[in-house]
Amino acid sequence: MPQNTGRIACLDGPKNVELKEFEVPSPEPGAIVTEVVRANVCGSEIHIWSGGHPHITDGPLGHEGLFRVLELGDGVSTDHAGRPVEEGDLIVPAYFATCESCVRCGQGEFRLCEHAYDHWSQSADVHPHFHGTFASHYYVYPDQFFYKVPSGLDEGPVASANCALSQVLCGLDAVEVGWDDTVVVQGAGGLGLAAVAAARERGARTIVIDGVEARLELAERFGADHVVDMRRVDTVDRRAERVRELTDGDGADVGVEVAGVPDAFSEGIELLREGGRYLEMGNVVPGHTTEFDPARMTRKSIDVESAMRYDPWYLRTAIEFLETAGDEYPFEDLFDSDFPLAEAEEAIRRSDERDVGRASIVPER
Ligand SMILES: [Zn+2]
Ligand SMILES: [Zn+2]
Repeated sequence: MPQNTGRIACLDGPKNVELKEFEVPSPEPGAIVTEVVRANVCGSEIHIWSGGHPHITDGPLGHEGLFRVLELGDGVSTDHAGRPVEEGDLIVPAYFATCESCVRCGQGEFRLCEHAYDHWSQSADVHPHFHGTFASHYYVYPDQFFYKVPSGLDEGPVASANCALSQVLCGLDAVEVGWDDTVVVQGAGGLGLAAVAAARERGARTIVIDGVEARLELAERFGADHVVDMRRVDTVDRRAERVRELTDGDGADVGVEVAGVPDAFSEGIELLREGGRYLEMGNVVPGHTTEFDPARMTRKSIDVESAMRYDPWYLRTAIEFLETAGDEYPFEDLFDSDFPLAEAEEAIRRSDERDVGRASIVPER
């Protein structure tokens, strides 16, 4: 039987998390009420917690997670891949809404739905309360794509499938990473490591640039063909030279910015060959700038793409990716610390202090 009440971690002003308790709702038609199996702390949560997110300033925390179906609303019999779904099944939803009736959705640009954050950005005081994943329960709205998760997958990575991996798979499609490309990945955090794995599965070579020993080691364990240590190769010119050495004097075909540092964008252009493609994905917090010489980009005829969120069906691809290729990469090793829900704030703070790798919140039952 479902518990009558559940708890949810909410932000009450910067760096102040409070747990609120609400009655567990019944699902409206098309919706699902779930129990949270595991919710991961993502870089975005740290931005939100510290007051740096442009849209989410208070309210429920958490967007990644793995969930168990508690109650299906009327009309829900399959996931968005058409597979039957029942109470007790594990599912992962996209963390944002796809309303299918706004201008962007009407143009098929589902990743840009104008109502993407309508649910998540609501206060937990608003029914049905459970809009964030740092909670005992999570409410999947009728306009959230969701997919059933096959049993046997490692919980940590699959609970992040709706963020980094889906994001990367969508982004790499935007710059058409394919066989025989050399991809330079700027930054070996969660997005960067997912980019290495996804690029490798497409037959591309990868060069990873970072300045933190542990992250460079992880990049190697994820199968990066080369790593470049920013502490030793310590100027943009030297790093560009090193990338040329590794690409027969040419430069990389594709660059992926997942460092989240504005200067990485201007550097990325220098790392590419003429006619290269560049994917900007890591800089998501407005208000940070870099000096940029656009003629450097124009003269090399670089195509620049940027990616924010993903078309929700990429989540299905992400789960299939973990199912078929997940074992070849040490995704599970990224998740090194579990916290009970009551310590959600501690989980975020220690992630911010880089005292832990990827933290997970595992609600006690
Ligand atoms: Zn995330
Ligand atoms: Zn929409």
